[in-house]
Amino acid sequence: MNCMHCGAKVYGVYPIVCDKCGYSIDYLSGVSTSAFQQDKFWKHTEISRTGSLSIGKHGPIGSFTMLGVSILSDMVRYALTYGSTGKTTNGRGDATNFCACYFPEVIGSGILPGHSLLVPCSGLMIISPQSQDWGHPFPMLDEWQQKNVPYQDGRCQFCNKSIDFGQTICQDCYHPGFDWRTTLREAQ
Ligand SMILES: [Zn+2]
Ligand SMILES: [Zn+2]
Repeated sequence: MNCMHCGAKVYGVYPIVCDKCGYSIDYLSGVSTSAFQQDKFWKHTEISRTGSLSIGKHGPIGSFTMLGVSILSDMVRYALTYGSTGKTTNGRGDATNFCACYFPEVIGSGILPGHSLLVPCSGLMIISPQSQDWGHPFPMLDEWQQKNVPYQDGRCQFCNKSIDFGQTICQDCYHPGFDWRTTLREAQ
């Protein structure tokens, strides 16, 4: 794996700060001071702040729950280490990189056109993970993923077997007691 920003080789779990270029995962986990990222984070944490979610103008919108907010830095590092990466187009129509990963927890809730109730979601999407200005995370609703992300395989973190998009461990490698946060802690 390589640093998203400068491309330097990264060993073990994705670092909080790159030794080579100083790129910090704060840019991706809501701690950034960039106005663009603050605005995105505000929008995508509405439910944890207000308990409800307003309807977005542009289709499905997801918001991190309180749990999602509280474990976001860990999720970002785990996703950058083991998640699926590729290219998609952003809201302005430009090609951009992404990194996506599903978690066992429900980390977000979303609104879908035509549904009156909130839809739970357990996917994390990071758009433009290489960018200090535009990179940001949000909860990934399946409907959003199917529309916006070209399908590609995931890879098992242990045996490298091809598995479903955004998944990080295959059935053969799954063992009772496995959990992603322990893996993250033990791998550093
Ligand atoms: Zn770097
Ligand atoms: Zn495996």
